[in-house]
Amino acid sequence: MIYLDSAATTSVRREVLEAMWPLLIAEYGNPSSHNEAGVSAAAALAEARSRVAAVFGCRPSEVVFTSGGTEGANLAVIGIALANPRGRHIVTSAIEHPAVLESCAYLERFHGFEITRLAVDGDGLVGLPEFSAALRADTTLASVMYANNEIGTVQPISSLALAAHAVGAAVHTDAVQAPGSLPLQVSALGVDALSISGHKFGAPKGIGAVFLASRIAVEPLVHGGGQERGRRSGTENVAGAVGLAVALELAELSRARAASLAEARDGLIRDILAAVPSARLTGSAGSRLAGNASFTFAGTSGESIVLELERRGIVCSSGSACAAGSDEPSAVLLAVGISPEVAQTAVRFSFTEALGAEELGRVAREVTLAVAAIGAGGTN
Ligand code: PLP
Repeated sequence: MIYLDSAATTSVRREVLEAMWPLLIAEYGNPSSHNEAGVSAAAALAEARSRVAAVFGCRPSEVVFTSGGTEGANLAVIGIALANPRGRHIVTSAIEHPAVLESCAYLERFHGFEITRLAVDGDGLVGLPEFSAALRADTTLASVMYANNEIGTVQPISSLALAAHAVGAAVHTDAVQAPGSLPLQVSALGVDALSISGHKFGAPKGIGAVFLASRIAVEPLVHGGGQERGRRSGTENVAGAVGLAVALELAELSRARAASLAEARDGLIRDILAAVPSARLTGSAGSRLAGNASFTFAGTSGESIVLELERRGIVCSSGSACAAGSDEPSAVLLAVGISPEVAQTAVRFSFTEALGAEELGRVAREVTLAVAAIGAGGTN
């Protein structure tokens, strides 16, 4: 099986599991307990926090462990919005993950916030002039994703953050797709909050982290025993936090080789575009995640291609099934100007450097055969 669905999730890396194992079966104390086991769990948690903070370039106290990207985005967006009564206006983009869009919708429905959902261009990019024009004196928060999970477009976060700060708004970026491809230093990005999710880069599902700058007030969403400096109560997932720290450091090592992954991606894109006349790249050719190649294949069906490829030993995903259980065409593809019919033909290939050149070459050949088989009336 050749796996090209890394944007959906990844396997747990051996080094991560090995680091977690002792914390699950031997050193399993509760970090809030004052006994020896608790003290050693608290030390492991503190070390994990420092290691994540080193990658973010922030203080350890500015890292909050969460259950994943959805919780991190909820905490950043809702937590910052509710704690900063400077205004009730939020600027975001039309192509955010539901974790951000639904957090904004919640604030709109229940807390009287006004949400500006910025349109993007055909590449999926938020324009700086449009973004700047949307900012107001009462804008509390701007939340724009670092990189899109469907089309791979990478946003100019530092320029957007600069503009938002000029009007005094806080900035969150959903960086769930970034580890392993893009730098995560929060001061260079200029953001006040940044969320990541372990299962996208070799840690298990159910652990994530969010950077929350100490200068920004945050209203907690989960109330209880006051863990995580009161910002996220509940007994900490110590083993998960340790696994996340190890996985993040490994992702940083991969990032140093992102240029060669991007080269391999461009080879795959070239091969598919050359061999399949109906293929069109979605997203930006230049400002793109190193491990994302996504297409539409007008006249076919994304679901059929995914099924046909699966029969041929290749795992990828269609653009239409991104929200759980939904058959709706992807809102991201519609936002970049693709028609609902063509959006149903989208297929995303997302991969890491674990995939060799030979395997990528085979992917291009199998895609060509799969599209031809469907066109011939095979499985459509
Ligand atoms: N944000 C982006 C860009 C994502 O791709 C995802 C996961 O698909 C999430 C947020 C949600 O992360 P999690 O699955 O950890 O809740």
